[in-house]
Amino acid sequence: SGVAQATLSPEGVLLEVNAALCRLSGYPRRDLLGRPVTEFMVEPDVALATRGMGRVAAGETFQLRRPQLLRHADGVTVETRVSLFPVRDADGAVRRLEAVVEDVSEAASARRELQLTEARWRSLASHSSDVALLCTADAQLLFASEAALSVFGYRCEELVGADGWAFVHPDDVEEVRAIWAAAAAAPAGTSQCFELRVRHADGSWRWVEETLTNQLDDPAVGAMVVNLLDISERKSAEAVLEELAGTDGLTGLATRAPLMASLDAAFAAGLAATTAVVVVDLTRLKLVNDTHGHRAGDDVLVEVAARLGRTLGDQGIVARLGGDRFAALVGGVGDVSELFEVCAALLDAVEDPLQLDGLELLLTATVGAALGPAADSGALLASAESALATAKTGETGPMHVVRAETTSTALCRARLIEDLRRALAADELVVHFQPVVQLSDGRPVGAEALVRWQHPDKGLLSPGAFIGAAEDSGLIIDVGHHVLRQACRAAARWAQLGGHRGAFHVAVNLSAKQLTRGGVVDAVRQALADTGAEPANLMLEVTESAVMSDVDVAVRTLQELREMGVAVAVDDFGTGYSSLTYLKRFPVTTLKIDRSFVAGLGKTDDDAAIVTSVINLARSMGLECIAEGVETEEQRLILQTLGCGRGQGFLWSPALDAATFHTWLGGRAAQGGPAADEEHGVASAPGQRTRRGAGPGLPVDPALAQRVADLSATGASLATMAAALNSDGQRTPEGRRWSARSVAQLLVSRGLRGS
Ligand code: C2E
Ligand code: CA
Ligand code: CA
Repeated sequence: SGVAQATLSPEGVLLEVNAALCRLSGYPRRDLLGRPVTEFMVEPDVALATRGMGRVAAGETFQLRRPQLLRHADGVTVETRVSLFPVRDADGAVRRLEAVVEDVSEAASARRELQLTEARWRSLASHSSDVALLCTADAQLLFASEAALSVFGYRCEELVGADGWAFVHPDDVEEVRAIWAAAAAAPAGTSQCFELRVRHADGSWRWVEETLTNQLDDPAVGAMVVNLLDISERKSAEAVLEELAGTDGLTGLATRAPLMASLDAAFAAGLAATTAVVVVDLTRLKLVNDTHGHRAGDDVLVEVAARLGRTLGDQGIVARLGGDRFAALVGGVGDVSELFEVCAALLDAVEDPLQLDGLELLLTATVGAALGPAADSGALLASAESALATAKTGETGPMHVVRAETTSTALCRARLIEDLRRALAADELVVHFQPVVQLSDGRPVGAEALVRWQHPDKGLLSPGAFIGAAEDSGLIIDVGHHVLRQACRAAARWAQLGGHRGAFHVAVNLSAKQLTRGGVVDAVRQALADTGAEPANLMLEVTESAVMSDVDVAVRTLQELREMGVAVAVDDFGTGYSSLTYLKRFPVTTLKIDRSFVAGLGKTDDDAAIVTSVINLARSMGLECIAEGVETEEQRLILQTLGCGRGQGFLWSPALDAATFHTWLGGRAAQGGPAADEEHGVASAPGQRTRRGAGPGLPVDPALAQRVADLSATGASLATMAAALNSDGQRTPEGRRWSARSVAQLLVSRGLRGS
């Protein structure tokens, strides 16, 4: 027991003592045993103690009210509180006294206090998210708190004895060493606070705030005390805020966003023809960073920023685009030769020798510039950047100055538009169809028409490669009519083949121009009449931004289409305005949940929350829901569980050419048949879909299917299988080279692999 105890005869002679009492009195056990306890007491307590022992011997339990002074072996007195208990034999007679002696002296209470404080500090240090370190003056680690593991991934034991400098970022070492040297020389107890990068056990660098306190002379500590707070998140938040605020934290210059805003303003003010963008790219900053450290590199950037600003004066605005790239808006430029002079002045300013810590540095730069007018601010900046790229090839010297419309990107665009015009006449635009299915059982309920360009030289191009140019040039109207006719033809053909009770929809994407420039209602009426398709089998997809470009016209157009009996879907729902006020005004039948949210299902709660609310919203407004980009069985199951009715995505099939789609659809319908399966409907259990969900597959020849099955059995990856098929000279049913995706689709459709 840690409590001092003694057994006494009824007369007060010590019969037994424990180790704690020996410690408390300072006497070894043999010096205590057999001696009257009063020998160790101080008058006048002896009389009181004697009286007390008499009462206990008579059978009372007794605590001496006043603290008793015990004479310690050292000669000092120890203040104690003594309790006495009688110990009786079988007959009830008191044979011995039991004494419990508590040290209540000031020293003891101070010791207890200290223990308590230490325990508190220990607890604070081990539960704090700050890392506490004790180090020698030259940063050898003596102690590390437990947070070192959660914050930096190091166990405390592996840190003790380590060299602290090994964890500091090479670019920070010099500065931090100087701070440490100053701190070690500073008076005891003074603290420094600074930021540096520290290596995490996983090899990454973390920004930390270090508070360094010199406690070397404190006998209780005898170390440099280091507190580290991980501020990496704060640092990245700061960067984001700087970007939002529009100033670059290092140089104080504007960032890209305010530069673009100023350009937009200049364009809006009708100054496009006299406004230019100059891009300046430093060529040797990396060398400065590598040989003089990042801090030197930072100093160079600050100096260059100042020089560019001074040179341009109030003729323009300088911004930092990031890294070692600067851009300037230059106003009031008369012609290209004037712009050339501005560029030369900027280049001179940058290449003027620069003093850095007594060193002379010679910087070099390349400059690209473009003078308006251009389509918009983005196009002007892009022109300047492509001029910079030309300058970097070395063909033009360190500067290249152009007029925006003569730049290569603009030329490319112009050629693309020309080429597209030719393609329309040559009937190179084809329409592929991607199935839309019932989520519960995979039955086809429709298709989305997606345009492709069968280019004679470049192969099959996806819409991303040309829809933008088609919209800019107005060709989208012709492209749109072409797609509309193909889609209506398909709708007329497939209307009877879907496995669903309701109408089979073929959906067509409408661009903003089609929707607001008029003519689309007539075009739809004409296409329906020419192909014999029913309006009920046609769906038009519009994005919110297309509607918002001219709400009144768009709403009126959609209203007319709805009155004809055509369905209308809001495409990419959730990525645009998603404004309920407007949604209520839009005469729509369907919401298509954008595939970016579907991709996050099962991964991020945010996306699940968005999808859930879109589905609930659709339900409350009586709209049908289609989830786009469904790629996995998990996504399908979550969507179905959330109450989404339909889906489309690679889980079932990519877009197929009309012939392949027709075969695919025919196989489906033959397998289940709309009438036969009507009763299962939405309620069919997920387990029931399996093979039917996978469908009859692409129409491929049996030898090919066997070859794929064999490859699959070897466990080969999709890419390996695709490569093997291509080297066999095999082609897909659509006549294309096999890709991992088309192999996957074939495997799934043959039931050789799950989704
Ligand atoms: P969208 O309307 O959102 O079309 C869906 C896109 O998602 C298609 O790309 C489709 O191939 C792709 N997709 C389908 N399932 C999956 C999947 O499971 N995972 C992933 N990652 N993607 C999937 P596509 O065909 O390249 O079309 C791109 C966009 O081009 C379309 O987006 C649409 O905005 C536009 N577009 C296509 N055809 C036309 C058209 O005839 N007229 C107009 N105005 N725009 C069109
Ligand atoms: Ca679409
Ligand atoms: Ca979409």
